Amino acid sequence: MAMRIILIGPPGAGKGTQAASIIEKHPIIHISTGDILRENVRAGTELGQTAKRFMNAGQLVPDHLIIAMMRDRLAEDDAQNGFILDGFPRNVQQADALAPLLDDMSLRLDAVVLLEISDEAVVRRLEGRRVCSSCGMIYNVYSHPPKADDTCEACGGQVVRRADDQESVIRGRLDVYHKETAPLVEYYERSGLLHRVPADGGPDSALKYLESIGVSGK
Ligand code: AMP
Repeated sequence: MAMRIILIGPPGAGKGTQAASIIEKHPIIHISTGDILRENVRAGTELGQTAKRFMNAGQLVPDHLIIAMMRDRLAEDDAQNGFILDGFPRNVQQADALAPLLDDMSLRLDAVVLLEISDEAVVRRLEGRRVCSSCGMIYNVYSHPPKADDTCEACGGQVVRRADDQESVIRGRLDVYHKETAPLVEYYERSGLLHRVPADGGPDSALKYLESIGVSGK
């Protein structure tokens, strides 16, 4: 049985980090809409050029673009054995669009994991967050700095601050989260899929939790 998970949480809750520890143990793929969009920005595609304005302002990229992007991504072969969605759905309209996409492919979700964290902890984490511009490895100047200044330990790439990780933009992204994304908590609670996991329990707390409740790809 394939494992199909959604990770929800404010920016900086550690969705990418938790997803990385899940895919280390399970043969499923990690689909991060933020990563796909950043790749498009780097490659200068039409989608990237449109998305960039919204991303740098901390706003959501329009739903129709995101939904079309996800329809294509979920139809690819490597998604058929299971996935973790990180950063999608981001609002109720996107969740409403995801449901028929999955139905059409006769797929169902196993769990929606909410990573819980306070706004103040988010601001501190994101101000300290750095990412490798080549491989995407995540660092934090407070809790996990790269050993050599600005150089990625995994690939030697340059470790940088994301354009949207500055305090004014972070506060805006938190507002967007509370207004747009937080309603998904109740949405998935109603379908009995929601599970709450504290965001400060270590990089594999979501994996451990999922295994403890018997959600596994096997
Ligand atoms: P993330 O890496 O998930 O923090 O996403 C970075 C930025 O990409 C967000 O602030 C949005 O501008 C955009 N983005 C990522 N996922 C979505 C989505 N599902 N819907 C709309 N915008 C998104």
